[in-house]
Amino acid sequence: MDTQDVAAGNAVQRTMALLGSLPDPDSQESCIDRLQLVEQATRMLAGDKAQTTSRFVDYREADEAAVRVPTSDRLKGIEAEVGLARGESPYVGAALTSTATALTTVLPQTFAALNAGRVSEYHARVVAEQTSHLAEAHRREIDAAIAHRLGQASTTQLRRLIQGHAYRLDREAAEARAEQHKARRRVCLDPAGDGQVYVTAELPTHQGLAIMDTIKQLTDKRISAGAALDEDGQPLTRDQVMTDLFVELLTGQTTADGVRAEVVVVMHDTTFLGDDNLPAWLLGHGPLPAGTVKDWLADPHAATFFRRLYTRPTDGQLVAMDSRARRFPDGLAKMLKIREDTCATPWCNSPFQESDHRIRWADGGATGWTNATGLCRRCNQRKERRGWSYTGTCDELTVTTPTGHAYTVDTRPPLAEIKHWNSDPPPLGAIDIAWATAA
Ligand SMILES: [Zn+2]
Repeated sequence: MDTQDVAAGNAVQRTMALLGSLPDPDSQESCIDRLQLVEQATRMLAGDKAQTTSRFVDYREADEAAVRVPTSDRLKGIEAEVGLARGESPYVGAALTSTATALTTVLPQTFAALNAGRVSEYHARVVAEQTSHLAEAHRREIDAAIAHRLGQASTTQLRRLIQGHAYRLDREAAEARAEQHKARRRVCLDPAGDGQVYVTAELPTHQGLAIMDTIKQLTDKRISAGAALDEDGQPLTRDQVMTDLFVELLTGQTTADGVRAEVVVVMHDTTFLGDDNLPAWLLGHGPLPAGTVKDWLADPHAATFFRRLYTRPTDGQLVAMDSRARRFPDGLAKMLKIREDTCATPWCNSPFQESDHRIRWADGGATGWTNATGLCRRCNQRKERRGWSYTGTCDELTVTTPTGHAYTVDTRPPLAEIKHWNSDPPPLGAIDIAWATAA
């Protein structure tokens, strides 16, 4: 069943009708009264979700034991099933599943507070996550120790309180956790909107402080030398100088503006050659103002390559040829990247990593546009497990989980969706698969 069907279902409507007995929001005071009561109800419903999730895990475990699924293979993929049922990514689904298990087993006080509407679902999740590395007995002890603060403490206070208790109870585990985190150091790139990105590094505190110290010292030096000016000779702000130095130090370029990078952007011809208001689309990152991208392309030092892609006029869906090869040809894989942009599994935010045959090649699935899906590595692996299937056309994808629940999403290229926002995709089956070309 689709989540929309569940939301529109009679049982849910009947339940919502009960809210009619709450005070009408007809004055400032009654609005706040109603808000508090609805918030309490939301928390109690979150308690129900935790209980239901935990029961789902128990049933699955019992079923798998009954059919002798090897222990190491049990409960695989349940995080995605919980995520799909709740309209969340597999990553969030995993956090919700482990929170539900913890609440219903080792965090009885927090669970009771959630069921009574005294603590929010988010704070209950903080308690579960902040204690997840501890032994069961220690989790129970912290649960009891912080119970009186639930519903009073802010998120930061709650986190620090739990960390303090965790260090007190198991110093070694805390130190091991710090070591594990050090091993997990990483650098990430995330869109920040308006043509900007965040480059974030997760690293040991002293190293982070050293980086900021170095940048600050060099910034002071540049400013006091009178060298912190823009191309018109106007003084740059301290933040601008620090950011330029960050780029120069990491790329080895002498000026931040001189950096080179490979960027793949998609633009409609009406934007590139004409002057319409559509954005450009940076693969894997999302929309950018077209003018910004045109400035990049106009840079005389930029090596620019163009690849022309053909779209169906009614709705901008890309048209492509099929291939006899088992592997996706480069052109088809690139087009798939444009269509999906991120992993195609509903609500999964992970980047596109693998081109996949929806129906396996071994089972007669063609290497073609209609049978292709762009997935992240984890979704691609999970899809091969018992009970999962990915089906559909190039315009939509239906993911069916081991419980038989199906989730359907549209798969139009995001830029086409913006251009053709007010036109419906043509009926299924009327798709004209033509060809793709590289210019
Ligand atoms: Zn995914």
